[in-house]
Amino acid sequence: MSLTVAFLGLGAIGAPMAAHLGRAGHTLTVWNRTVQRATGSAAAAAGARVATSPADAVRGASIVITCLPESSDVAALLNADGQAMLQALEPGVLFVDCTSGDPDTSRRIAADLAARGVDFIDAPVSGGVVGAEAGTLTVMVGGTAAALDRARPALESFAGKIVHCGEVGAGHALKAVNNALLALHIWSTAEGLVVAMKAGVTPQVALDVINASSGRSNASMNLFPERVLTGAFPRTFRLALLDKDAGIAASIARGQKGASPALQLAADLMRIAHLELGDEADHVEAVKLVERWAGVELRQ
Ligand code: NDP
Repeated sequence: MSLTVAFLGLGAIGAPMAAHLGRAGHTLTVWNRTVQRATGSAAAAAGARVATSPADAVRGASIVITCLPESSDVAALLNADGQAMLQALEPGVLFVDCTSGDPDTSRRIAADLAARGVDFIDAPVSGGVVGAEAGTLTVMVGGTAAALDRARPALESFAGKIVHCGEVGAGHALKAVNNALLALHIWSTAEGLVVAMKAGVTPQVALDVINASSGRSNASMNLFPERVLTGAFPRTFRLALLDKDAGIAASIARGQKGASPALQLAADLMRIAHLELGDEADHVEAVKLVERWAGVELRQ
């Protein structure tokens, strides 16, 4: 089933997602704030039209997909230039936000769009740049089942797994929780390896044992062997974005007034790491702060 799709936000993960939509045969228009990134994108190479503005991108589209850093960026885009993009959305359009955003802002966006007859689902993704390039992302969706069914042919072009999580905001809540766990895994694994190293166990031996034992995680099995031990830190997912996600998870937890000290700790640690290491650091580089505090390096 061929759709007319607009894709806005060709960052590290958005660019390969958009390219899959083009290759799947959908009629695709792309827009990116820095236009060179759009004209030089794989989607454009696969035949996508490069729009001159967000409003130009969404005109005539039946599905609009956004993949920006934060929900506030999506809201700002809709409302910029006298709400030009919002006004260009025709009633009946489906708006799919693949940003890892926050549930409250998404519910406000969904209400604004509903007033124009536009359906909204939050559809953040996991699987990283590798999963995006392979077309095997997991998509976690908040919204109605009917809206998800409409989005499915588009989502399937870059997804290996699509899960309906609940109402609008549910996808964003779950994505934030997942990434808070990722933050904790990265940080606690680094601390554990430092302690093992000071106790006389090399990081390689420690990982060998942990990865055959119950302390293992995706971080210990993949991120540490491939990046931390080698000292190669490719920029696939910015630490600034993980800081944002852990902050969202902690904020949701605080709103529920339960006790979630580990989620709050994840948010605090990622905020410190982001402030120390800067906007362009990759998320795995948070390990460098653990190393700095301990005065050791976890290299091979
Ligand atoms: P990047 O930082 O690589 O790219 C951000 C994109 O958003 C760029 O296209 C950038 O445009 C655009 N952008 C930034 N600010 C604005 C703005 N105010 N208005 C319009 N466009 C803007 O981010 P990612 O692609 O890595 O991440 C995008 C989303 O996907 C985030 O929510 C992230 O948390 C999530 N995500 C990322 C994953 C990853 O592995 N990278 C994995 C899973 C989810 P420009 O080119 O002009 O800078």
